[in-house]
Amino acid sequence: MIRESQLKPTDAHFRDTVPAGDYFLKVLKEGETLRILDLEGNQAADTLFFNAKDTAERYSAMDTIREQGNVFLTAGTVLRSNRNRPMLEITADTCGRHDTLGGACATESNTVRYALEKRCMHACRDSWMRAVNEHEEYGLSKRDITHNINFFMNVPVTAEGGLTFADGISAPGKYVEMKALMDITVLISNCPQLNNPCNGYNPTPIEVLIWH
Ligand SMILES: [Zn+2]
Repeated sequence: MIRESQLKPTDAHFRDTVPAGDYFLKVLKEGETLRILDLEGNQAADTLFFNAKDTAERYSAMDTIREQGNVFLTAGTVLRSNRNRPMLEITADTCGRHDTLGGACATESNTVRYALEKRCMHACRDSWMRAVNEHEEYGLSKRDITHNINFFMNVPVTAEGGLTFADGISAPGKYVEMKALMDITVLISNCPQLNNPCNGYNPTPIEVLIWH
């Protein structure tokens, strides 16, 4: 569902650009709003959410899908935790659909899906691992790398239940916005993938904005 935001970028108290292949890690306070902006279009932002006060509670794709009765995430979606508690609510979305079924890219999956020689290519899982290693203060480890959301990524489900990677439906300037319903640790890998159309074979930067 397309829903535009009323928030002005000039009022945001935080703005940062995240290059493809890099990560973003920050605590979002309860009540704050996070916007992820697809600057050049067809990018994928592979995102993990944790309860900042207890990282054993984290985003759960299955609880989110079951409670809303739909596999796609968009405006109105409540992102739920593995304790089935609301973590964030998507309050605005100009893309219209985001994936939470496809998982994140890893060097292992690159090898299986594409070719052995792709193993050395940087993947989202590497970016998450780097974030976890470089920021011990967040209390995360590789065990915490679980269900994720692929913002802006298009993974249609066929009538037979099949999954496919399809061309992105995002475009330059599209964004998704969500309000934190508890203190949330946000970990985004801006996807460096070059082997599938999730980012148009051309990884590009995203911008992150936060409003109080
Ligand atoms: Zn990726």
